[in-house]
Amino acid sequence: MRKGDTQEIRRLNRRAILGYLRKGPLTRADLSRLTGLAKSAVSRLVDELLQEGLLEEGASTSPPLGRPGTLLHLRPRARFALGAELGVEGTVLLALDWRGEVLWAKEWRHPREVGPKERLERLLAEVWPHVPGPLGLGFTLPGVVVEDRLLLAPNLGWRGLDLKPLLQEFPLPVAAENDAKASALSEVFFHGEANLAYLVLSTGLGVGVVAEGRLLRGAGGAAGEVGHWLGQGGKTCACGRRGCLETELGLGNLLAHHQALGGQAEDLEALLRQAKEGEAKALEAIRHLGEALGRFLANLAVAYDPALVVVGGKAAELFPYLEAPLRQSLRTHAFLEAHRDLPVRPSVYGHLAPAVGGASLFLARFFELGGLWAERPRRNGGRYEEVAFGDRRGLGA
Ligand SMILES: [Zn+2]
Repeated sequence: MRKGDTQEIRRLNRRAILGYLRKGPLTRADLSRLTGLAKSAVSRLVDELLQEGLLEEGASTSPPLGRPGTLLHLRPRARFALGAELGVEGTVLLALDWRGEVLWAKEWRHPREVGPKERLERLLAEVWPHVPGPLGLGFTLPGVVVEDRLLLAPNLGWRGLDLKPLLQEFPLPVAAENDAKASALSEVFFHGEANLAYLVLSTGLGVGVVAEGRLLRGAGGAAGEVGHWLGQGGKTCACGRRGCLETELGLGNLLAHHQALGGQAEDLEALLRQAKEGEAKALEAIRHLGEALGRFLANLAVAYDPALVVVGGKAAELFPYLEAPLRQSLRTHAFLEAHRDLPVRPSVYGHLAPAVGGASLFLARFFELGGLWAERPRRNGGRYEEVAFGDRRGLGA
């Protein structure tokens, strides 16, 4: 057997062991049974992973049959990655433990006119004190991202941007991704979802669609930019055209509608506060949005037929008030019987979800490589989505 083959088998076996342990603590005997590897091989690999500080030994089990064993689990905080969201109003930066725990998060705002160079310089300054340590930094943008290029982000007013020169100074591996696509990938990574639409609704609207285990990108990376679906409306969109769906469903329009009803809220936080206090106009504006979102989900259901819709972005925080009108509207407008009760839930990470998605790009790659992470990014495999979807067993799916 060639040396390369031995290395590859070692990676696959380590990946299988880490993948099973992601689901919960197991003994060496459990791992041998689940992976089909000989007990001696499992012991050798487990020793290796213990020495690297990736695993920890916990309590002993005493099963009714067989010998007692020691439970192994992934050591908390053994590895982590940084994730960032460059959003319309501001930036979120966080560190995500390999088990999915947000270790810390930091947010800062920007005036709208601040350009990409200045925003990435600030991000670099914030990242610098945390290096070395993280596996990498995955950051998201609200626009069409293809490899290291941002083609268009209407709500930022950025277009045709080569990110590479802006990222050269970063002292760790960096990857850029669309916010909705990164969020959808994180659902695959954490929950093994194979058919899912991840809706990012804040100022803008986009979806990340995973269909039969693959992230949809389309020919030019624009698949999922449904906020720019043309409708009958006459409002001008940030992209310069009239009638985009985002001008109706975007949360800027929610505030405008609330004002038109005679309400007063300077921003979404204020509107949410008023909804919590039961202010009638705030609840009415949100109900109206929920009804429109229900119709939109009925459309998404015939376009992509997801098994689950996750609502992220700022809308995740409005979800308790959006939910009832949204479900009612979906039930009324669904095309198929099966779509009437399409599961819809808010993101568990709330507005941190895109940054979590960014960090999970690197965590998924780490697991895929069986924890055999090289410090030099070129040695860490191909493009991350190939890694994330290459073999679903590696993701514990
Ligand atoms: Zn548009």
